[in-house]
Amino acid sequence: MKAAVLTSPGSPIVIEDIPVPKPRAEEVLVKVAACGVCHSDLHVAKGELKFPVPCVLGHEISGVVADVGPGVQGLAPGDPVVASFILPCGRCPSCARGRDDLCETFFAMNRGKGTLYDGETRLRRADGTPLAMYSMGGLAEYAVVTATDVFPLRPGMALADSCILGCAVMTAYGAVKHQAEVKPGDTVAVIGAGGVGSNVVQLARLFGAAEVIAVDVRDDKLAEVQKLGATRGVNATQGDPVAQVQSLTGGRGVDVAIEALGRPETVSQAFMMTRDGGRTVVIGLASGQAAASIEVTRLVRRSIRLTGSYGCRVRTDMPEIVSLASRGLIDVSKSISRRYRFEECAEAYQALNRGEIMGRAIVTF
Ligand SMILES: [Zn+2]
Ligand SMILES: [Zn+2]
Repeated sequence: MKAAVLTSPGSPIVIEDIPVPKPRAEEVLVKVAACGVCHSDLHVAKGELKFPVPCVLGHEISGVVADVGPGVQGLAPGDPVVASFILPCGRCPSCARGRDDLCETFFAMNRGKGTLYDGETRLRRADGTPLAMYSMGGLAEYAVVTATDVFPLRPGMALADSCILGCAVMTAYGAVKHQAEVKPGDTVAVIGAGGVGSNVVQLARLFGAAEVIAVDVRDDKLAEVQKLGATRGVNATQGDPVAQVQSLTGGRGVDVAIEALGRPETVSQAFMMTRDGGRTVVIGLASGQAAASIEVTRLVRRSIRLTGSYGCRVRTDMPEIVSLASRGLIDVSKSISRRYRFEECAEAYQALNRGEIMGRAIVTF
């Protein structure tokens, strides 16, 4: 099969021919239909997030079940499915509490070593060289996914476009539902109108937000997220974004500010936009150990809740997300602006790096 391999950080990804992997017990082999183009892959490709190489990136896939390993129930070859970037082990203390977003095995084995949970990768070159898997290594024709992370799509759902449910949408959903707890009537600011941010806009409205203020540095991206429900746009190059948001909210700030860029200055800005008693939620991954400054006295006196949010509670949230998308309450296709062929995947990441992608780009097979 063809797979996109990163041999060292900073070098372009190269398409190689490698053997089709085999699913082991409680694993599913998915024939990939599409894989989303996400900033976390880019962070790894540029060496800003540490990950073993050589590796296969790609962590947001949809496709069709090609084979199942022993012990897999309820899935059969031919089923259209989506998989999320967190592969919950289902056994660690966090998974036992339903906090798949904190799965200790996923962080230790997959994010730490690029393997699945018996300590081995399923991907190798023909000469036997192991290839680390970033999540399931979705930038390949086939991917092995733990059965805990494979969710059937419903009839009528667009197979390729549904891939973004597995990272962009689920990350937005986890933040809006669990950490921001967006409620009807809330005023929400979203910093960064990219793949995740545009889905935060859409989901905040779905959860009843009365106002969603999108903040970005590009007017075209701000215009695009208005189609997904943003009620106001703030261009951060046209004056202090905090002052602009304050003036749009009568000087009170927003109930919820969600930072979807992962930059120290925008994390501080999200905090300063939050009203007294409000919530600041950070979902953008920063490069390396970047630190943001937070005004301590304001945090204390204004009783602001500052939290991070990573992905979602996969096994309970993904079926809900699929259900919302199947009923048209989440529109996956509207936030996808570019579709690249697999052969063009290196170019897709270069375009993302240049900041050219509105919403999400996907790679299709
Ligand atoms: Zn992602
Ligand atoms: Zn776990």
